[in-house]
Amino acid sequence: MFDPPEELHRSYDRALAKVKSELGREYPLFVGGEKRLAPEKFDDRSPINTDWLLARFQKGGVADAQAAIAAARAAFPAWNALPWQKRVQHLRRVSELINRRVFEFAAIDSLEVGKNRMEALADVQETADLIAYYCNQVERHDGYVVPMGRDPLKGFRATNTSLLRPHGVWVVISPWNFPVALAGGPSGAALVAGNTLVFKPATDTPWVGYFLATCFLDAGLPKGVYNFVTGPGSTLGEELITNAGVDGITFTGSYDVGMHIYRSFAQSRFPRPCIAEMGGKNAVIVSRHADLDIAALGCYRSAFGLQGQKCSAASRIFVEQPVKEALTKRMLEHLERTNIGDPTLRQNWLGPVANAAGAKSYENYCAELRQAGTILFGGRRLTQGDLAKGYFCAPTLVDNVPESHRLWREEMFLPITMIAAVDSLEDGMRRANDADYGLTAGFYGSKREAQWFFEHIEAGTVYANRPQGATTGAWPGLQPFGGWKGSGSTGKSAGGLHYVQQFMKEQSRTLVE
Ligand code: NDP
Repeated sequence: MFDPPEELHRSYDRALAKVKSELGREYPLFVGGEKRLAPEKFDDRSPINTDWLLARFQKGGVADAQAAIAAARAAFPAWNALPWQKRVQHLRRVSELINRRVFEFAAIDSLEVGKNRMEALADVQETADLIAYYCNQVERHDGYVVPMGRDPLKGFRATNTSLLRPHGVWVVISPWNFPVALAGGPSGAALVAGNTLVFKPATDTPWVGYFLATCFLDAGLPKGVYNFVTGPGSTLGEELITNAGVDGITFTGSYDVGMHIYRSFAQSRFPRPCIAEMGGKNAVIVSRHADLDIAALGCYRSAFGLQGQKCSAASRIFVEQPVKEALTKRMLEHLERTNIGDPTLRQNWLGPVANAAGAKSYENYCAELRQAGTILFGGRRLTQGDLAKGYFCAPTLVDNVPESHRLWREEMFLPITMIAAVDSLEDGMRRANDADYGLTAGFYGSKREAQWFFEHIEAGTVYANRPQGATTGAWPGLQPFGGWKGSGSTGKSAGGLHYVQQFMKEQSRTLVE
């Protein structure tokens, strides 16, 4: 990520040119292994320049959701009956295909979301690695078929076994900010666990969703095992979360939609698993003993990387009073040096925010924060030259906002972060935990203080003294990623030891001979 070889840049540039030569095409849904069209379509435009029509997609509705669920149901018995080793082989092929297509895939991700090349490549590569990791997990646990102890009863011999078995039809609904990893990761886990799948991408990122779908389908999954539908969350999405033919769901997105889905999904004849990964309001605490160069770099990267639109973005910085000025000064130096523009160009670190609604919210939040506190940097849309055709917003650092202000607790999901002095680490911890979210958090200070931080912070993914990012960055098999409180429904993290089991139910078997 931080020192990529020249060949990587050349490969990305070649792939970008290819992808740009193919703009404006129409793409179908995939249901039961067949292409499917809907009567209505919608345009997919780039947030970098809204003149760029990337592609046209099907505005699927209730009937398309129902057809996809029925196809997944029909395919389930045969997929379930396959030995788990065969399913692992299929999913390993998907992972390899994603690996092989990584540059083209990343170029689409950049154009559709506004990610810089390194962020886009990481999103795609992480997906291949997540799927491979879940395959490894299933193999390491022998398909989750585990011999148990024998009953200590005379004259009777029983073989006891614990098995994890799939639920049936699984739905994956993904957000636009990591549209590859947050779709491909859960889809891979659901499938390798033995479920069949219906996948719906966010309406802002259908092209990434389509390209991902082709990786699953080109890997040769049997017809109907993997189904791809595009269309509005309010219609097609509602059908997916209320249809009784769905056995489990993984949703990643906002708190409001996540809680709506969590509640709706429970309105069924019996409980069904709902993995809801939701928003964040991630805090960093900086001690007077911190290395301030590292702290400033980590805060800057996590606050503004991907234009602050990571669920793990650092949006609150609580720094001990004696070092606040020095930390702020260092962060401002980074902000002054930031290159913003077309994120497909190598020199630009920041691109646009993802859509018109985000740009409008940015303006509203900045107006509100200008009243409530002091904008130290940014606070305005960027409209010079071609930037006017996209949704470019200056990274924004805000000070002096009163503790009672609502924006200390609400997720903005934009390149805006707030800083405040605290009297002590305890005071910083109290404020860090004063939010309904509990996704990620960061700390800078001594090793002993870091242990104290780990013990007391209410968040699922936590980091100390990390220059690469105060609150962001997780890799399958290295940092399991998940949230507590309003950030996640299960307390088990993606890319971690306990993830793939969530897509299965236990059966305890006793056979008496
Ligand atoms: P949204 O919650 O707006 O949408 C997420 C997905 O849900 C989209 O596919 C959307 O479809 C769909 N959807 C919306 N309404 C419904 C409905 N009634 N029924 C079924 N599906 C529905 O989130 P964003 O896409 O804006 O993503 C940003 C959010 O995601 C942020 O809050 C961020 O923190 C969170 N996030 C959490 C992560 C985590 O790991 N915890 C990781 C990444 C992001 P459509 O687009 O068609 O409306």
